[in-house]
Parts: sequence; structure tokens; C-alpha cells
Amino acid sequence: MPVTTCDAVVVGAGPNGLVAANALADAGWDVVLVEAQDEVGGAVRSAESVAPGFVTDLFSAFYPLAAASPVIRDLHLERHGLTWRQAPDVMAHAFPDGRCAVLRRAAADTAAGLDEHHAGDGEAWLRMVAGWDRVRDPLLDALFTPFPPVRSGMRMLRRSGVAGALDLTRLGLLSVRRLGHEEFGSEQARVLLTGNAMHSDVSPDSAGSALFGWLLVMLGQDVGFPVPEGGAGMLATALRRRAESVGVQVRCGVPVTEVDVSSGRARGVGLADGSRVRARHAVLADVPAPALYGGLVAARHLPHRLLDDLRRFDWDDSTLKLNWALDTPIPWTAPEAGGSGTVHLGVDDDGLVDVAADLSVGRMPRDPFILLGQMTVADPTRSPEGTESAWAYSHLPRRWATDEGAVAAQVERMEEAVERVAPGFRSSQRARQVQSPSDLQAADSSLSRGALNAGTAALHQQLVLRPTRGLGRPETPVPGLYLASASAHPGGGVHGACGWNAAVAALRQRSPLGVVRRAVIRTAWSRVLRDPGA
Ligand SMILES: Cc1cc2nc3c(=O)[nH]c(=O)nc-3n(C[C@H](O)[C@H](O)[C@H](O)COP(=O)(O)OP(=O)(O)OC[C@H]3O[C@@H](n4cnc5c(N)ncnc54)[C@H](O)[C@@H]3O)c2cc1C
Repeated sequence: MPVTTCDAVVVGAGPNGLVAANALADAGWDVVLVEAQDEVGGAVRSAESVAPGFVTDLFSAFYPLAAASPVIRDLHLERHGLTWRQAPDVMAHAFPDGRCAVLRRAAADTAAGLDEHHAGDGEAWLRMVAGWDRVRDPLLDALFTPFPPVRSGMRMLRRSGVAGALDLTRLGLLSVRRLGHEEFGSEQARVLLTGNAMHSDVSPDSAGSALFGWLLVMLGQDVGFPVPEGGAGMLATALRRRAESVGVQVRCGVPVTEVDVSSGRARGVGLADGSRVRARHAVLADVPAPALYGGLVAARHLPHRLLDDLRRFDWDDSTLKLNWALDTPIPWTAPEAGGSGTVHLGVDDDGLVDVAADLSVGRMPRDPFILLGQMTVADPTRSPEGTESAWAYSHLPRRWATDEGAVAAQVERMEEAVERVAPGFRSSQRARQVQSPSDLQAADSSLSRGALNAGTAALHQQLVLRPTRGLGRPETPVPGLYLASASAHPGGGVHGACGWNAAVAALRQRSPLGVVRRAVIRTAWSRVLRDPGA
């Protein structure tokens, strides 16, 4: 069978794999990118899958993390066909009783709206935005670079001072419920934070959830929730076009079945069609940690402590997604919801805690929390004038993911919840597509039971504990092999940092100081994986 030789092979063409391939090729490496599916993009794809003329984002849809990511910005994807579009408003939360909270494009407008709900909330909002502005750049650098973020950490300290640094540390440990109650008088303001924290799988009552809620609302206020004109797939297409323009060879439609390891080093990969790609310098894996260490790399090449830690790997919840082609815009009871690309609905602020409790104990939420995208509002090219291309997703406990009856019942509950805040919604449906957790996984094997973050975002699986206890870095215990997926720090979302960090780590190990780096990493791994008492 044919053998190709290159400098580096990247397994998986999700956004992280695509970014990694771009970064390696920019440095002059000869790169092969192998993707199991027939097209690149991973969870960043779109298609006319519901009705002709309606473009549907099949997985991710809104990209504040990409817009704020220094990694994606520096790729200049606008030169490769990417155009960002924004809805008139960023996002809204439609309450079951008809009230509505809106995050608007300008901070002053958001603040004015919140003041109407509770005098003083507007000022509190603007204070929060000012705090964000102070730390924004070093914070984003710290989030998107490998652990420990020494330089960005110092910059952050210089900007915010010791008191500010302590505030940030507290924010990192706070629950979003506590943050909301400390800062705001109205439920409308609080639910913006709590609903956005629920984009991760961290319960709103848990330590660490405040950071997620705060980060996402502040990003929304800062860069909006942009979408690629023409569909999510246009972002992946731009990444592919750029990669090919710098020489990356893209092979789609064939999964990698094994990583070749010999003499203690990753040497390349074997593909399902029997062919092999030999890599002179590095193998980068844009696949979840359990797929890499529990399948692609034979167990005999891995330290037993790593395999033991992998048994404790904690996936995030399952996802059920519905896509609709609608004959009319969504008939919201609260008209303010009509201008936002993203609308949260189904429960109020307290209800979000109930949903998290349901997910935690493995109960199907009777009142699901729903994240809904009205894509034609955000980008009028998505469907014919006067219509709407919409989707909604909700989370389920992993144990129910493959139960067809339970999934069908949840589809019903989700549509009922939308109907409650937008009477007439159901009769506007021209066509519907259900993406069950199994469907999501079939379309991208990295989405195990529809998990969208390649592992929980809870504190026990963050930083040096992501994906298992280790270095918080993309280097693996197998020299020459790098983890480039969202299972690596900093985790899920389309920001490209996991792929970028893996590429930089691989390049640095071939630099003049590479020998030293390799020795340091080897020693660090041996300390981390040493048996206690040994
Ligand atoms: C329903 C849903 C909604 C989301 N919404 C948003 C959002 O709005 N905004 C946001 O920022 N993020 C969102 N996310 C999260 C985001 O999409 C992911 O975190 C991101 O795509 C992770 O990128 P990745 O490259 O690590 O993995 P993926 O995008 O999952 O890509 C992995 C790729 O590897 C391929 N692959 C796997 N195994 C192999 C193999 N053995 N051989 C070859 N190829 C292989 C897969 O086919 C896939 O193409 C959402 C995710 C989902 C599922």
C-alpha cells in the first residue's frame, strides 16, 4: 500500500486540526492533514440539510471565541473568503412568562435596557465591561496559550494590580449564581450571565461557572456573536483554502486507524484504506483524548498511570439538536427577542440550576434549557427573504443519549418550550431535521454521544488536569505526538488555540533549543506519571 512521507501529519480536520496544519505549513513544514469525513470542518460545517435554499449550521454556529482569538485573527481568513456577519442584537433570554433580557451590540444600550429592569443594573453592567476592558488582551493571551501563561500573567498583573489579580482569582473560583446576585438586582441581568455559563457543562452553582458566564457575555459585548456569511462551513472552507495555499495536502474520507510508534517515538499514522503516512517530525492528533490514548495509540506504548487516569476521563453532557426551515420569522411574544442571533429559553434563572441538577443526577430535564439560533436574523443569506433558518439544541444526561424513545420525547418538550415563548412557531415549520446525540457522533466521531467540548469544562479537568493529570500542554508522554484537539487546554469552542499550541510545541522541539525542551518535557512527564511512593 502507498506510503507518503512528510514532516508532520495532522489527524482530524476540525478547526483545531486546520489551524495546526496552517501553523506548521507557515513554518515551512511539509504537512498532510487526514480527515475521516468527506469534508473538513469537524463541528464547523453547514449544509442545505433541512430544505432547499435554507443553509443549516450542523453543529457550532456563533463564533465570539474565533473573533477574539489572536490565533484565528492572525490567519487573515478574510483573504480566503470569510466574511463575518452580526445580528442587530447579540443575544437574548426569553423567559417562560414573556419577559426578555437582551445583550445589545453597544454596552450603553445593554446597560440602558438592564436599568429598566432594575435601577443601578446598567451602571453595574458598565463597571463589569470596564473591568473586562482592563484585562482583555492579556487575559485572552493567557487563556489561549499553553500552561503556565507566564508572560500574559505578568502583563495582567501589571494592568490590574494585586487587588485586580485577586478579584480575577476570586472570579475564577466563584459560581455564576453568586456573581449574578452580588452584581445585579434584576433576574434579567443575572440570567444573561447564568445562561452563558451554561454554554459549558459547569453547573451554575459550581465553582468556576462565573468565569464562563462572565467571559462569554463580555466577549458578546466586545466582539458580538458573529457568524460566517453563507454558513458555518465557510469558516472551515477558509481555513482549508488557506492551508492549501501554503502547501498542506488535505485527504478527506479516510479515518486514521493507528498512530505508528517505534523506538519510543511517534513516526506516522496508518489509515483505514491500508495506506500509511510517515512523519519525519511530528504527529498531531485533533481527536479527543480517549480516542487517542484508548484506540489510536496501542496501550503498550503508553505509561500505565496515563491509562489509569484515562478511566477517570469525564465527558461533558450529550446534546440533542433540532434544525428548522421556517416560513416566517419566529413569532416571539417578546418582540425584543427578534433581533438577536442567539436566544436562550425554556427556563428562568432558578430553572437553570434545576436543569443542571437534572443533568447531574442523570434525569431527563422536563423543562429543558434551550439555546436557539435564528440564523437568517444574523445573516440574511441563510434563507429566502421573509423566512428563517433556525436551530435549537439542549443537553441530555449521557445515559439517555441512545434511548430513541427518550430522545423523541425530549424533541417534543423542546418544541413545546419554543411554542410557549413564540405561539405559532410550530405552524411556521416548513421542514425539520433532528440531530440526535448518535447522529452528531456519526457525523463527527469526536462528538461522543453529542458531547460538544471533548470533555467536561469543570475545574477537575482544567489546566494541568486537562485531559488527564499532566502538564497542561500539548506534548504527550509519547515523544513526537501532540494532542491538538479540544480535549487539550484550553478546551472546547472554536478558537483554534488547541491546534495552534500543538503546532508551536512541535515546531519548538525542532528548534535549536529543542534538545533541552525535549529533555525538560521528558523529565516533567516522568515526575507526573511516577507512582506515589516510588
Ligand atoms: C452542536 C454543537 C454546537 C456548538 N456550538 C458552538 C458555538 O456556537 N461556538 C463555538 O465556539 N463552539 C461551539 N461548539 C464547540 C466546537 O464546535 C468544538 O469545541 C470544536 O469544533 C472543537 O474543535 P476540534 O477541532 O477539537 O474538534 P472537531 O471539530 O470535533 O473536529 C475533529 C475532527 O477530527 C475528525 N476525526 C476524528 N477521528 C478521526 C480519525 N481517527 N481519523 C481522521 N479524522 C478523525 C472528525 O471527523 C472531525 O472532523 C459546538 C459544538 C457542537 C457539537
